[in-house]
Amino acid sequence: AKVLVTGANGFVAAWVVRKLLEAGYAVRGTVRSASKGTHLKNTFAKYGDKFEVFVVDDITKDGAFDEAVQGVDIVEHTASPFHFAAKEPDDLIIPAVRGTVSVLESIKKYGTSVKRVVITASIVAVFHPAEYPAVYNETDWNDFSVSEVKAKGAAVGGYPMYQASKTLAEHAAWDFVEANKASLGWDLVTINPPWIFGPPIHEVPSLEQLNTSQSQILTTLSGKRTDKKELTEQGNWVDVRTVADAHVAAVQKAEAGGERIIVSTGTFVWQDILDAANAISPPPFASIQKGFPGAGKDIVHDVAYDTAKEKRILGLEHVSLEQMVADSIADFKARGYTL
Ligand code: NDP
Repeated sequence: AKVLVTGANGFVAAWVVRKLLEAGYAVRGTVRSASKGTHLKNTFAKYGDKFEVFVVDDITKDGAFDEAVQGVDIVEHTASPFHFAAKEPDDLIIPAVRGTVSVLESIKKYGTSVKRVVITASIVAVFHPAEYPAVYNETDWNDFSVSEVKAKGAAVGGYPMYQASKTLAEHAAWDFVEANKASLGWDLVTINPPWIFGPPIHEVPSLEQLNTSQSQILTTLSGKRTDKKELTEQGNWVDVRTVADAHVAAVQKAEAGGERIIVSTGTFVWQDILDAANAISPPPFASIQKGFPGAGKDIVHDVAYDTAKEKRILGLEHVSLEQMVADSIADFKARGYTL
């Protein structure tokens, strides 16, 4: 079977492409320009013509994916802006929403062989930024951020704007399915992960250009978070390889069809990253800050996720935090980073 992966040069997507190829699928990956496909072509050269790059220069245009979807059996849509530096909500919302709808419209018109569509969604479309403690599940929606952004515009800040973009994009996808249910030859799965960390295999020209989530690991190790409040800030995380496995399982498991699936390994605080780094023997760097060893163990987390659906339907093996930290550090070192 052949899979279309959008935004194939991204942190998550490059791992999705790799895991799909390893599982025997043929993959067509979209990128915004031919030059963004070069690193991918080199990385996956051993797969020959089972991997191809396809340029879609503007995902927001009507018909953007009309050609890309032809002849594929599965579509995995990951392309969406993920950063907190947007000036206006529309900088994120338009590509997130229009990108999603334009893939689905192209499939409707030209994706006659498509049987399943998987969208990389997020837990930012699930949690409620103001109502916790809570254990969220797939019935929860973060419509709060959408109304915040509508009311206040850019003044809400970069993170709420990103949250709104992912919530609106995911709603648009499920609404599209509902509106077209009589005629669709495919079903939809959304994968909703929290912070995704782990060693990147996509093109990272310099560590300053690391993607938004993995750059947090570098920030923590390099001593840019020092006070206890910051180091014990709560979060939930999952390894990029676990997320990629989820994108493969989501196309293989019939029961995944029509489901929103939270894929999360668990809670963490940044101090846990430092503790894992400092436990590596021999020490990978001359000096990694110690922070407040063990402080993470005392935290009672306010926000957690019910992952029963993932366990029941996808049954993923999760990469541990210790492994993620060790592999991330090995990757930073291989790129010449030192402390
Ligand atoms: P990256 O920034 O590494 O990759 C994003 C991909 O989307 C790139 O291919 C990028 O293309 C493309 N993209 C971004 N903006 C646009 C745009 N305006 N038009 C067309 N393409 C665009 O991010 P991740 O790999 O981390 O994110 C991938 C997906 O996973 C996103 O949907 C994100 O919301 C989701 N996600 C990520 C999490 C994380 O912690 N990393 C957590 C939960 C969900 P280009 O390189 O050309 O800019």
